[in-house]
Amino acid sequence: MSDCLFCRIVAGEIPSARVYEDDHAIAFLDIAPFKRGHTLVVSKRHVPNALADADVLASLAPAVTAVGALLTERLGADGLNILTNVNEVAGQSVFHLHVHLIPRYADDPGFAALVRRTADDDLDAVRAALA
Ligand code: 5GP
Ligand code: ZN
Repeated sequence: MSDCLFCRIVAGEIPSARVYEDDHAIAFLDIAPFKRGHTLVVSKRHVPNALADADVLASLAPAVTAVGALLTERLGADGLNILTNVNEVAGQSVFHLHVHLIPRYADDPGFAALVRRTADDDLDAVRAALA
């Protein structure tokens, strides 16, 4: 059994609020969202971060596009922050490639407001809207 948390979520050994899957990636809700609908796009293949393998990074593009559309159309996001952390010094805490898609809403704008975690952590309601 892998000791990588996201490999175990990809394998279905640990539950997640999954909202999207294709051949190369899955997407599920972040357990501690910065904003309502905060979603992680995670490669099915284990690589440690976004700079480890260009092909694996590129393979996430359709998932990022699809999940971005879901968050916009189903949750009414007015925009998104799309980011990935590389190494601990940048804030990476799970060392398996993932891209954060953080929906942004007109009533809570701006980059400075990004890192306040939302009080709305009702993942069941958010997943029901998306999946
Ligand atoms: P990082 O800090 O590596 O860029 O992002 C890791 C993200 O994974 C964090 O935002 C954290 O809240 C999320 N996370 C950590 N453990 C779990 C988990 O067990 N399930 C889910 N859905 N998200 C997790
Ligand atoms: Zn992994």
